[in-house]
Amino acid sequence: APAIKAINLVKIYQSGGVPVPAVRGIDMRVESGEFVAIMGPSGSGKSTLVHMLGGLDVRTSGEIWIDGTRADTLSESGWALLRRQKVGFVFQFFNLVANMTVADNVELPALLGGVSPRQARERREYLLGELGLTERAAAAPAQLSGGEQQRVALARALANQPRLLLADEPTGNLDSRNTKDVLRLLSDVHRKGQTIVLVTHDARVASMADRVVSLLDGQIVDDGALPRTRRRP
Ligand code: ADP
Ligand code: ADP
Repeated sequence: APAIKAINLVKIYQSGGVPVPAVRGIDMRVESGEFVAIMGPSGSGKSTLVHMLGGLDVRTSGEIWIDGTRADTLSESGWALLRRQKVGFVFQFFNLVANMTVADNVELPALLGGVSPRQARERREYLLGELGLTERAAAAPAQLSGGEQQRVALARALANQPRLLLADEPTGNLDSRNTKDVLRLLSDVHRKGQTIVLVTHDARVASMADRVVSLLDGQIVDDGALPRTRRRP
């Protein structure tokens, strides 16, 4: 099964009784192992789309299939289970557990997913190392900069080795050195077969993707493979 299949997906917000169409009939298919970047101007529906794909926003109509499972009809707890088993999500708000250390924040999803404590620790050490956060492992989230919190959120999303990584602007707050660390990690996990769907404004991030999906006014206006020359080796 494809990692994601969206069929005629629609989201209409109600804002003070006024309907605000945010996503207007999106058909999209992401194969297992693909890296897809979602781009488009502010307000074009990018966040709404990935939020629906991660079960954070309820669709108005249409279907969502994740890894062969019908997802749009799941309950809140059904989504929670699906996310625990298959989907890592990096939000714009990082949602780290405030009274846990960085290390525990990153290990928790792996432990909840049934991985052994030793494997969870190894995975955490690998991810924090790749993201330049080893020194921050004992810190609390409140002691971290915004960019550090963002990288911890990425490490946490990948801790469980989810089939699918969804991310909304994963480099949004980062300086160029930290962006490079994030890009290297994404490239590494992608090479190992990780499916990635992320929203980005950053051309360097998009240039690593297999495919860029461009949104405008809640619809896909371009969905193409990148020319080979723009791909990384
Ligand atoms: P993007 O991520 O591309 O900037 P969004 O998905 O955030 O776009 O927003 C798409 C449209 O939906 C915009 O017009 C935005 O104002 C509107 N929108 C987003 N979230 C809400 C909400 N919670 N309530 C009402 N309108 C919303
Ligand atoms: P983005 O960077 O994706 O464009 P926004 O700043 O548009 O994000 O949105 C930030 C938050 O505000 C999101 O949770 C979104 O759902 C909400 N939001 C966006 N537009 C509106 C709106 N018109 N009315 C209510 N909530 C909104």
